[in-house]
Amino acid sequence: MSVAEVILDSSLEKTLDYTVPDHWNEVEVGMRVEVPLQGRTAKGTILALKKTSSFSHLKSLQKILGDAPLVSQDLFTLATWISKYYSAPLSKVLKVILPPAVRDEGKKHKMVCFVKSIVSKNTLRKLCEELRSSHPAQAQVLDVFLFSPKGVFLSEILEKAGVSQSPIKTLCKKQILRMEEVQVDRSPIFSHEFFPTKPKTLNEEQQKAFDGIVSTTDQFQSHLLFGVTGSGKTEVYLQVIQHILKLGQGVIYLVPEIALTPQTIERFKGRFGEEQIAILHHRLSDGERFDAWHKIRKGEAKIVIGARSAIFSPICHLGLIIVDEEHENSFKQSEEAPKYHARDVAVMRAKLSSCPVILGTATPSIESYRNALQGKYFLHHLTSRADSAHLPQVTIIDMQIEFAKAKGFTLYSEKLLDGIKERISKGEQILLFLNRRGYHTSAQCPTCSHVEECPHCDLTLTYHRSEKILSCHLCDFKKPTPRNCPSCHADGPLKFKGAGTEMVERSLHALFPDIRTLRLDADTTRHKGSHERIFKQFRTGKADVLIGTQMIAKGLHFPTVTLVGVLGVDGSLNIPDFRASENVFQLLTQVSGRSGRGELLGEVFIQTHLPNHSTILHAANQDFEKFYAEEIETRKMFGFPPFVHLVKFSFAGEEAKKCEQMAKEFQRQLIVSMPKEAEIHPVIPCGYAKIKGKYRYQCLLKIERIQRILPLLQKMRFENKNRGNVRLSIDVDPLTTFY
Ligand SMILES: [Zn+2]
Ligand SMILES: [Zn+2]
Ligand SMILES: [Zn+2]
Repeated sequence: MSVAEVILDSSLEKTLDYTVPDHWNEVEVGMRVEVPLQGRTAKGTILALKKTSSFSHLKSLQKILGDAPLVSQDLFTLATWISKYYSAPLSKVLKVILPPAVRDEGKKHKMVCFVKSIVSKNTLRKLCEELRSSHPAQAQVLDVFLFSPKGVFLSEILEKAGVSQSPIKTLCKKQILRMEEVQVDRSPIFSHEFFPTKPKTLNEEQQKAFDGIVSTTDQFQSHLLFGVTGSGKTEVYLQVIQHILKLGQGVIYLVPEIALTPQTIERFKGRFGEEQIAILHHRLSDGERFDAWHKIRKGEAKIVIGARSAIFSPICHLGLIIVDEEHENSFKQSEEAPKYHARDVAVMRAKLSSCPVILGTATPSIESYRNALQGKYFLHHLTSRADSAHLPQVTIIDMQIEFAKAKGFTLYSEKLLDGIKERISKGEQILLFLNRRGYHTSAQCPTCSHVEECPHCDLTLTYHRSEKILSCHLCDFKKPTPRNCPSCHADGPLKFKGAGTEMVERSLHALFPDIRTLRLDADTTRHKGSHERIFKQFRTGKADVLIGTQMIAKGLHFPTVTLVGVLGVDGSLNIPDFRASENVFQLLTQVSGRSGRGELLGEVFIQTHLPNHSTILHAANQDFEKFYAEEIETRKMFGFPPFVHLVKFSFAGEEAKKCEQMAKEFQRQLIVSMPKEAEIHPVIPCGYAKIKGKYRYQCLLKIERIQRILPLLQKMRFENKNRGNVRLSIDVDPLTTFY
């Protein structure tokens, strides 16, 4: 007898045993199956095959879905590790590894005809002229392709050219056009132009890094590629990838967010061609995801580029993982289980696959840098900018003094205004950074001091001037701006305070009537493709200034930006969180790094009320080592990562009292059952004490050896889930202890 241990797709936590019918051949671990469950049929995945079961009266598997395992053995091992380490149900981990679009094979898609030209544009033009008098219908068809070189849907040609199908078929026979069946929800039109590029000559430091990395291609080894902004990390990646491809192996390349990395993707396509690259991002339709996933599994795509969940790509013969901008917080899934960190999962996956992993960054996370200093990771340091560009000049501006000069609040220091004026006259570009969107960040009644807050969240409402509304940035609640105070009904308008990016944009136009601005924040990028559009407009000189939130801090390369103004980061420094300084240091370094990346020297102004804050000083001096030396001491003194592991238990429920009670009860359980070396903190409300109508409490646990308590965590989570409508969630290695 053969027994299959099956994990069901439903949230049921334990696995179930089923017998494999005798005549079934080729049943493998990782295959998708249908099984009987309490009189109905359920779907699941085979977790293991064994000879016997500890249960009697087993039912039999009903049906195998698909013809091959969807989850490979190494991904199963990884899933099991994630489930244990992050204290999450295995079924939820498998849901991330095998997204719904992929798990149900044989999905029917509506097919439509797509027509491509397979000759060059010049040939097309010549043919057009030749055919014009002899075969006018064919010429009309080719006209359409002169305007849409990437191809057109058949239905579109028929309409645009006003012809029947026969001239199109003739052109296909003549090998000028090609007709393909594509699925209707997939876009075969590639959005970016790209140009083939050749490997550049590496400088000495790049070469050393390259040599160091490729010397470990047949073993597990973590590499920290620590290169200042603009030092040419991407070129190192590209050449290492080239090397890996030659070995017949595949590569996973993780980025914080696909929409923010259009330039990198173009460089990849330029170097390796479009065919062997699969790009995964959250805006793919189900059909596109299905295609990409199978392209990867079949080995047609050898390079996967994607955000955090791309770490689970079923790539064949994995030979290298790259985590670019490894310090980025978006690699951590914080919202729902499994609350994994893709960088840490990447290191684990590389270990399971015996391949190297590169963590690249200009501002290493404290954890990674410590690992490098301790010799666990190989450290490769790129200290100079490639192409002889220089690091920018950074000046800190004390806004206390500027306020005094302006006799009140001002967004801009004199120096920054002069700088903007100068750049505009020279035709150079400017980035202005402010980490708050909207116009004003709060609205208060001058009579009774009532502040407009979200009815569902613990957050003040932001005023959006263009829409004349107040909106909540946590739950998207919106309401018209009240004419007078909703609390005391006093006459007169509310008083608005705090500046956001929308205000920056408006005020610039008031100061410089001819200025051309673009704004990049969550409000201007709600639609698919809007990031790319704004980047492109800015890069092609359609604006003098790009104003934005941290979206503009990411790895973009604008050669004519010579001035970066940081309008304010003080708020982020004041958050009571152990990672606040690290986050601000990274942000300042990243945003400063956008300046002076071309031939022209760059300048950066940091406006602050804390001009002597050491984090700001170190960032201004672009001195990571000093920052690290200071920060690591603080972490050690107060007992924070990387010296201990944190586990954050959060409780959310509609009734504040019940929620707090349950949290306190759980905390007492922790004190009783956890080993003595674990430090358990009291229950406190979360930084946002209420989100979307749910009250939130949390409790923190610190421990050095996390492995010791993992089984216990799993057990306590299982016993305490959904008690009295209060939801417990466990976050191992949380990014923040505040929110
Ligand atoms: Zn908003
Ligand atoms: Zn009032
Ligand atoms: Zn809200």
